[in-house]
Amino acid sequence: MSARILNGNTIRDQIYADLDGEIRSLASAGIKPGLAAVLVGDNPASKVYVKSKIAACEKLGLASFHITPPATMTTAELLALIKELNERDEVDGILVQLPLPSQIDSKKVLEAIDPAKDVDGFHPVNVGHLVAGRPALVACTPAGVMEIFKRSGIPVEGANAVVVGRSDIVGKPMALLLLHANATVTICHSKTRDLKDTIRRADIVVAAIGRAGMVTREHVRPGATVIDVGINRITDAKQAEDFFACLPERLAEFRAKGTALVGDVHPDVANIAGAFTPVPGGVGPLTIAMLMSNTVKAARLRRGSRVSATATSRN
Ligand code: NAP
Repeated sequence: MSARILNGNTIRDQIYADLDGEIRSLASAGIKPGLAAVLVGDNPASKVYVKSKIAACEKLGLASFHITPPATMTTAELLALIKELNERDEVDGILVQLPLPSQIDSKKVLEAIDPAKDVDGFHPVNVGHLVAGRPALVACTPAGVMEIFKRSGIPVEGANAVVVGRSDIVGKPMALLLLHANATVTICHSKTRDLKDTIRRADIVVAAIGRAGMVTREHVRPGATVIDVGINRITDAKQAEDFFACLPERLAEFRAKGTALVGDVHPDVANIAGAFTPVPGGVGPLTIAMLMSNTVKAARLRRGSRVSATATSRN
């Protein structure tokens, strides 16, 4: 392997260390940033994600409110809950874990969240601010990828960046952030012609596709930075043997468990890329780190000035 590994856990710890100072200074003004995590029903994967988010709040000393309504909840009931959370002063961030049960209108629910508490950055007001290059609460995964570039000294300005995937939560905001950082951005999707040649022209590749190992070494220009957003579970032994041909420990782990988490980028890309994010341990930890960062930011923007104004009026 020749590529530099971009370790998401190390970068997450740097972000947490930076947040610590801000959390302390908010605490000295009597503010404890709070995140409300709404988990509707009992989707096992969602439960794991929400648990990690609550654990991160506890680690950093943020308040967390874990709300678990039943899967049978209606859109109207969830909207009423969001309204209540919008009004609660100690709640700075509201996170509604997706996917929601099919009877619930997800769009309506996400749009009901107060944009000032929209720590996932999915509300059209925040998306609009991002498009316009104005300060906003930005979607956590792409914001985390930008932290990887910044904290790893990977130049973005002037780079040819190719984002594979155009979802509202990853691909589109990722492309906008890269554009605002002065990259020349190409967005690819399932209808893109000449995908391989397009990716091969990139200095920076961000894969957010949801297909195990789709980006192979044939797609990657030697020396390029490859960011793997994908999280896919594989259970097929042949696929695992191909994936982990050069990673005997991971192959042994797969054989013991019968399953493994892999990205959208084949691990063999490490032999040609200049730098890459592993899965797990690359982009994943940063998604939660940026959720924490957005919660602290939301608290500072919404409550910080109020406290300093009160302090000033008292003096
Ligand atoms: P998504 O909504 O399913 O979007 C996938 C995108 O990939 C779509 O734009 C789709 O194109 C494109 N695509 C699919 N097949 C393609 C192909 N053969 N060639 C080119 N493009 C193709 O997925 P997402 O929510 O963005 O998530 C993407 C991946 O990231 C998933 O594995 C997800 O689990 C993972 N993820 C990870 C984190 C993290 O914290 N690390 C956070 C969020 C998501 P069309 O638009 O044309 O359909």
